[in-house]
Amino acid sequence: MESELASRLSALVLDWYRQNARVFPWRIPPDQTRRGVRQDPYLVWLSEIMLQQTTTAHVAPYFQRFQARWPTIQALGQASWDEVSSAWAGLGYYSRARNLHACARIVSEAGGFPDDLPSLRKLPGIGPYTAAAVAAIAFGRRVAPVDGNIERVASRLAAVTGEVDGPGLRSLRRRVEDIAQGLFDHLEDAAPSGDLAQGLMDLGAQVCSPRRPACSLCPVVSECAAHAQGSPEAYPVKAQRAPRPNRYGAAFVPFRPDGTVFVVRRPPTGLLGGMTMPLTTSLGEAPFLYLPEGAPDGRVWRRMGEVSHVFTHFALSLQVWRADVGAGDDLGEEGRWVAHEEAMAAFPTLGRKILRTALLGEGPTS
Ligand code: SF4
Repeated sequence: MESELASRLSALVLDWYRQNARVFPWRIPPDQTRRGVRQDPYLVWLSEIMLQQTTTAHVAPYFQRFQARWPTIQALGQASWDEVSSAWAGLGYYSRARNLHACARIVSEAGGFPDDLPSLRKLPGIGPYTAAAVAAIAFGRRVAPVDGNIERVASRLAAVTGEVDGPGLRSLRRRVEDIAQGLFDHLEDAAPSGDLAQGLMDLGAQVCSPRRPACSLCPVVSECAAHAQGSPEAYPVKAQRAPRPNRYGAAFVPFRPDGTVFVVRRPPTGLLGGMTMPLTTSLGEAPFLYLPEGAPDGRVWRRMGEVSHVFTHFALSLQVWRADVGAGDDLGEEGRWVAHEEAMAAFPTLGRKILRTALLGEGPTS
């Protein structure tokens, strides 16, 4: 994209953003960024980690709770894993919580976040996108954080096409990133880089939507190649996704007469690593027909129902089995007994679905 066009486009997006910026608890509004106010790198990083694969509406209350409880990176760095994992429960993708905790410790020991891309990239859980977002929004670096919204806007502006398989897909992606980066390279001198980043994100989220872009409301419509072609929805061109496979398993939820429930801490790595969960079997490719192996012996297990959950790479169906055991029964397993309300608060979403089914579901006795 030629430099004059890139500079015109970034100016148009910035103007639009100043009138239409969405309000989020992690944002500094554009009237303040124009006066030189910058967002705290800790809060930019925290919001960006939370927002990966999750909606802004879902993240907002979590962000506010984290900010109130741990207002600085030092405070978060001193928190225990139990505190952080409980506060994270329900946000999904739990490896992010582990990396968040590890990153907070490293950064607080170092006295703060580094302000350049290569150093940011070395921190746990910070990939190219998050590093660019923190560098642009918190430190004013002229780098493009290419998320799904910016990818869509950039590929439509220049109607980027190409091979969508193997190396072709990588070069297609690089061309889109170059176009987005061109907008940052030609941003007027005094303009805040973070506003351009957030302006492009907002434009993608509010106007240049995946299925029905509202081109008549778009500040860059006169320069948009995909609009001129009449088929903006065709961009970005993408490889076909392989269908998600199904996985099956079972969860065992024993209750004592006092209403406490048995929970375990999952191994630190792997699915839901480090999280508090009910006992579960390993996962297989077919559902169980009978009470599966792995249920503690000698108890009467009732099948209460089934829960479904979609992970990035597979769809999971879990049978839920419940046993009402004696007050002194320790199951012979490593774990602990907690009030079911406490378990509900500590569990990730899948654990909550399991517990709800164990409490309320109905099923045949095994
Ligand atoms: S004109 Fe339409 S397709 Fe082009 S960037 Fe704007 S909303 Fe997207």
